[in-house]
Amino acid sequence: MKANVDQDTCIGCGLCTSICPAVFELNDEGKSHSIVDEVPSNEENSAKEAEGNCPVNAITVE
Ligand code: SF4
Repeated sequence: MKANVDQDTCIGCGLCTSICPAVFELNDEGKSHSIVDEVPSNEENSAKEAEGNCPVNAITVE
């Protein structure tokens, strides 16, 4: 399972980094990105929760 953040869509609200800090981190431009190649199995639920709660639907976890 991989997590991807659409850089053009992300508004840098930081919600995903709060919900799932093991996977998402804000970069220097204030946009979120995935810091892992593969989402660890024990983080899949929270990564999915971040996907579902992103206010602009910038996250894809699949
Ligand atoms: Fe960007 Fe969505 Fe994460 Fe907010 S929740 S930082 S808009 S990817």
